[in-house]
Amino acid sequence: MKLDKFPKHQLLFPGPTPIQPLKRLSEALGGKVHLYAKREDCDSGLAFGGNKTRKLEYIIPDALASGADTLVSIGGIQSNQTRQVAAVAASLGLKCVLVQENWVNYQDNDGVYDKVGNIELSRILGADVKLDASGFDIGIRQSWKAAMDEVEAKGGKPYGIPAGCSEHEYGGLGFVGFAEEVRQQEEALGFKFDYIVVCVVTGSTMAGMVVGFAAGGRADKVIGIDASAKPQKTRDQVLRIAKNTAELVELGREITEKDIVIDERFGGPEYGLPNEGTMEAIRQCARLEGMLTDPVYEGKSMDGMIQMVKNGEFPEGSRVLYAHLGGVPALSAYSSIFRDG
Ligand code: PLP
Repeated sequence: MKLDKFPKHQLLFPGPTPIQPLKRLSEALGGKVHLYAKREDCDSGLAFGGNKTRKLEYIIPDALASGADTLVSIGGIQSNQTRQVAAVAASLGLKCVLVQENWVNYQDNDGVYDKVGNIELSRILGADVKLDASGFDIGIRQSWKAAMDEVEAKGGKPYGIPAGCSEHEYGGLGFVGFAEEVRQQEEALGFKFDYIVVCVVTGSTMAGMVVGFAAGGRADKVIGIDASAKPQKTRDQVLRIAKNTAELVELGREITEKDIVIDERFGGPEYGLPNEGTMEAIRQCARLEGMLTDPVYEGKSMDGMIQMVKNGEFPEGSRVLYAHLGGVPALSAYSSIFRDG
């Protein structure tokens, strides 16, 4: 596998992201499965980081080579992607335009959803934040293309970074590197993880992992927990990105449908809206481990992992690595559903 042939711009803290045992959570769930978390949620000093920052390490060299002066990205109003792009742009002295679409049907009784959390941080970081009424879609968006045209019309040079970095040709590379990093950490730990649990929506995080772990014969041990509630589109996107990424890094074998394991049980009722299990998982993980997760993404994958342990779906003695991809800055936007903790 040839990941090293791609230029990389360091945005993460030096060294691997930490892997920590989730001892109290494992115990509370019966102690037969050993849960660990790899902390991508604290991977960088750039405005809290998260999974997009790792992806951007392989996209920024292309942006800089293009001579662009403005990064243009897109996501929902509480997008973690756009906040991370804003931070990276600021750190590089580039301008940033963000399209924030109306992806979530959240009944916000506190009236803060478009003011606090990620969107607040993006504004502080100096991004030009444009609200757009369009609904949820993980594909390429007209509003994003229009924002790039606008930058150009004003004499700027835009560089487009699509939702979740996922439709970008190099969007999967960062998480190929994640798998390599886990392999090195496993050597130091003296054991291998049997499963890797990861939240999946726009797809390039999981796609990169599938390719990275395919190198050690573990592609189908990466369990994607769907949080899009539109799993077929997400599944198609993961497969497409994984195939493309496998070719880029010269994996030496094709990625097929069998390599893509996505669990559709925990993503409802809709993208951005938690279900009871999500809320319970957020509280349980916070109260047992002091580790925060959010109602859009990581609370759903945490719920998935907890339910699978409870159902005995992991064989006894399994070591399961939960990839914590970030997302906590969105929590304040959901204040009205956490009034009672
Ligand atoms: N977790 C968090 C915190 C995210 O911001 C995202 C982004 O969409 C995901 C999980 C899902 O990752 P991906 O879009 O690469 O599937």
